[in-house]
Amino acid sequence: MDHKVLYSSAGIATQILVQDRKKMMILLDVGDGIIRDLLKEEISFPLSIPLHIFLTHGHYDHCGGLFSLLGFLRMVGQSSPVEIYYPKGSKEIEGLINLFISSYQDTTPFKLKSCDLQHKDKINISNDIRVVAYQMKHMGSTLSHGILSEIPALGFAIFKNEEKWLVFTGDTGMNDNLPNFLRNATHAYIEATNLADHYSPYHLSIKKAQELGKLAKDFTLVHTRR
Ligand SMILES: [Zn+2]
Ligand SMILES: [Zn+2]
Repeated sequence: MDHKVLYSSAGIATQILVQDRKKMMILLDVGDGIIRDLLKEEISFPLSIPLHIFLTHGHYDHCGGLFSLLGFLRMVGQSSPVEIYYPKGSKEIEGLINLFISSYQDTTPFKLKSCDLQHKDKINISNDIRVVAYQMKHMGSTLSHGILSEIPALGFAIFKNEEKWLVFTGDTGMNDNLPNFLRNATHAYIEATNLADHYSPYHLSIKKAQELGKLAKDFTLVHTRR
């Protein structure tokens, strides 16, 4: 089983690929360009293994490629199941899933399952792989409206047997769950949107992310600014 950042840039897209080529594929977020990024990996479609998509929150740079990806899988005749997990109450993600189902239900060749998650929910992917959701702290901001209200946001920890093998924060500001979430992870992907040590309540700075990364055995900063 291996993992790789396919692409990650704040406000553009983030997608992380986790796969065991014979057993299953996990995508952590699917921003714009997800199909192009997967094809670059020379993955052949349709997949013969189940696909599990875990979405950290509803911002376009994390779920904007979902509709395209489902459409692509429908077109190529994917028959193995596709499962989507997302934070409970994420309107954007529910809207995208519902739009796909209502548009293509009769001609979708794969079984599509979706499931909303809350803090500490566990999903068993196989006998030895499970994913645990952790509540994060995130809110939107736009140039015209400034900082907006908090939105449902999760980080995901992938356990291999009892090993906390990989964690991904998604977008988040500092919160009480982060240290425990990151501690002793074999590898951590940590968001580092803010430059240097600039503080904001809904993103981490590079300095803070590096400091938190020391809790894990190894880490990579993602979601940096272009
Ligand atoms: Zn983002
Ligand atoms: Zn975001």
